[in-house]
Amino acid sequence: MSDQQTTTSRERLRMYLVQALTRTESDDVQWHLKAALREWENLPPTPLQECPICGKVGLPERIQQHKCTN
Ligand SMILES: [Zn+2]
Repeated sequence: MSDQQTTTSRERLRMYLVQALTRTESDDVQWHLKAALREWENLPPTPLQECPICGKVGLPERIQQHKCTN
């Protein structure tokens, strides 16, 4: 997937949980995955970070990967 580099750990975590949920027929596993997704909803927001070079503000992973204009 080409947007691998523009998604955050948090977004990937949710994607993996949702995909696991669609791939299991076990009620027990579904229960645990739904509980994990509820906890995911409760995660505190990721603090934004500012690029020290160009001043761009965004999620830390995005700032690490952005194409700095300076
Ligand atoms: Zn920058």
